[in-house]
Amino acid sequence: MSKEKIALFTIFGGTGDLAKRKLYPSLYRLYKKGYLAEKFAVIGTARREWTDDYYREIVVNSIQDLVESPEHAQEFASHFYYQSHNVTDIEHYDILKLLSETLDTRYQLEGNRLFYLAMSPKFFGVISQNLKDCNLLTAEGFNRLIIEKPFGHDYESALELNNQIRASFEENQIYRIDHYLGKEMVQNISAVRFANNMFEAMWNNRYIDNIQITLSESIGVEERGGYYDTSGALRDMLQNHILQVISLLAMEPPTRLQDKEIRTEKIKALQAVRLFKPEEVSDYLVRGQYGPSSISGEELKGYREEFNVAPDSQTETFVAGKIMIDNFRWSGVPFYFRTGKRLTNKGTQIDIEFKNVPLNLFDNNDEPLPPNVLTIYIQPIEGFSLELNTKKVGLGLETETLQLEHKHSAETTANSSEAYEKLILDCLNGDSTNFTHWDEVASSWKFVDIIRKAWDNEIVEFPNYPSGSMGPVESDQVLTKDGFKWHWCPDKQ
Ligand code: NAP
Repeated sequence: MSKEKIALFTIFGGTGDLAKRKLYPSLYRLYKKGYLAEKFAVIGTARREWTDDYYREIVVNSIQDLVESPEHAQEFASHFYYQSHNVTDIEHYDILKLLSETLDTRYQLEGNRLFYLAMSPKFFGVISQNLKDCNLLTAEGFNRLIIEKPFGHDYESALELNNQIRASFEENQIYRIDHYLGKEMVQNISAVRFANNMFEAMWNNRYIDNIQITLSESIGVEERGGYYDTSGALRDMLQNHILQVISLLAMEPPTRLQDKEIRTEKIKALQAVRLFKPEEVSDYLVRGQYGPSSISGEELKGYREEFNVAPDSQTETFVAGKIMIDNFRWSGVPFYFRTGKRLTNKGTQIDIEFKNVPLNLFDNNDEPLPPNVLTIYIQPIEGFSLELNTKKVGLGLETETLQLEHKHSAETTANSSEAYEKLILDCLNGDSTNFTHWDEVASSWKFVDIIRKAWDNEIVEFPNYPSGSMGPVESDQVLTKDGFKWHWCPDKQ
């Protein structure tokens, strides 16, 4: 059977950064692999007045590092069309409709339409409504809508946005992107758990002591200060990526590895996340903001000196905390997390610490045995490691820790599919496993809103961590007060 997918892509925000950096390269990768061949066309739209030729030049430039040959790139780009369009202007949708119908006939697209909203979320509602009102949705093929994050800035705004979109699209036509879910090793969490009995048998509060999730960035906000200052780490990272990773780690085994079954289990896990009382927030969470520092002779700005950031900004660029999941499997097991900007290293990893053996029989000077730790490296390194205790060579019965490790080679990592490529292909296949369902979004915002409200009531002394560190010292105390410590300490290496 041919693997070719048939669709008309309409990219709103076709002149934007996301389209150029992620979407066009991902479409080209799918083209190189034969998932896109003859029967596809792309309409890029935005307000700028571009010609088709200029647009194709932009597309070719965006795939420069990937092209097989200049001819192949031109062939690919010949499927791209540009239509200047202001999304708030209803008349423009008629022009878009005509072009869509022309391309549908020219490329035999069978009425399959994928609308990608790569622009500010404030337009998501109006675009969805106009697509329906102006009859851009077809009766004969599929109509799917891909939406970028952020989905609202709190529960109320997310609900309002969802209601607007749902007036035109059914839940099963809506694909809410969380690009973390397209990452190779995030998808591998299910393989680790459900393809290895030794782990699945131990994946509960009887054997796991705690789980630590770190999403750390070494860069600052760069040119995104304007957006970030209204968002902060809580909304930008915890509400989506971290809670999504936690739901994959915590969910019950689904009956099948398919979207409906997996989502059902993820939603149940998110609904079991303990909601704090406002006065408990400071017991569970720590926030931080980076200050200036000098690293290897390089002067790094503090967050408040960044472009488009208020000089007295109270926005957090770091958040760490403890999440508890109140169900039979996870009762009593803390899920620690931390994420921030301008930290020591860029890296995303999950450390799963297993409980110790009931009795230490070895001669370790009364030191407890180190725990077994399974680490899942998500980026930039992809792979696993497992720490085991073994006997030290020699006389006596002392132990030492040994690390079994598999890290994908640089070549494998470079050749692995890009998150956006996988997610676009999933959408073409009608597979919503790696997209977030409204119920997941709703649960996540309800959790995050409590924290946001508690924090907005207090003025904090910022900055409170220097660039290049792993965040404020209080983030260590979130673990030490429970008798644990961060397993990954790049700042101490
Ligand atoms: P961007 O570079 O600012 O692009 C915005 C796009 O919207 C431009 O193409 C702009 O083109 C178009 N636009 C603005 N107002 C318009 C209007 N009234 N009618 C028609 N087009 C209009 O933004 P971006 O970085 O690509 O981000 C797009 C979305 O993706 C956002 O939701 C963002 O949060 C999300 N996202 C981006 C990234 C990333 O890496 N960039 C990563 C994750 C999520 P004209 O000015 O020509 O109209």
